[in-house]
Amino acid sequence: MTGKVYIVGAGPGRKDLLTLRAYELIKKADVILHDALIGDVADILRESRAEIINVGKRSGKHRKTQEEINQMLVEYAKQGKIVVRLKGGDPCVFGRGGEEAEVLAINGIPFEFVPGITSAVAVPESVGIPVTHRRYDPAVVFITGRESRERLNWEALARLNATIVVLMGVGRVGEISRLLIKHGKDPNTPVAVIERGLSDKQRVLIVTLEKLPNKVKEEKIKAPAVIVIGGVVELFGVLGGAVKI
Ligand code: SAH
Repeated sequence: MTGKVYIVGAGPGRKDLLTLRAYELIKKADVILHDALIGDVADILRESRAEIINVGKRSGKHRKTQEEINQMLVEYAKQGKIVVRLKGGDPCVFGRGGEEAEVLAINGIPFEFVPGITSAVAVPESVGIPVTHRRYDPAVVFITGRESRERLNWEALARLNATIVVLMGVGRVGEISRLLIKHGKDPNTPVAVIERGLSDKQRVLIVTLEKLPNKVKEEKIKAPAVIVIGGVVELFGVLGGAVKI
């Protein structure tokens, strides 16, 4: 009998931000394939009886390719196993959850998405930056630093009056800042960069859109970081000192 694959969000890297459903499935699974970015959720994995495979880790020079991971999911399910595919944040927010689900659907393997708390919302929130607030922009847009230069309409984005949340953007801050300003975004728009959010290594950088690239370089900010561009970042001044996690 064919098993089932659960494509599960692990949340932003703290075990107490895991959903109960994710927790139950981790305990029930036969096999768990997880990515690198799961923080202290690793403690929970130790409670599981499942075979645990870190597909985000390099073994030697080799990191598992997406095709290899897809293949593993199909194979384990065909062996009748309950498979948990655990991903950082929410599996479908820049997490390739949809791509893996397509492969499962094509191969006739039953699957389910289990949502997780996305870092795009939780990381800013944890330092006192709500991604929406009625006094500020009436929309929020999530963008990825990868590929976005070619495929995004930067003019529309710059004029949208939206909070812009960038994932995987640390290496692209130069282009992001330049393109938004070129298309009319105010160079003084406040920006927050939150590095390693929700961990004891967290750093928060508050800067303007214009000065973002230099400051990221100066402070040697590294991935993973969430970048928030927009008026809501002002609230860090009011809420940042008061919020306690
Ligand atoms: N599916 C995930 C995002 C995967 S893309 C989610 O919903 O959260 C990976 C990117 O997420 C990183 O490059 C970074 O931009 C962001 N990220 C995830 N966890 C983070 C954390 N704890 N602190 C800062 N950024 C984080």
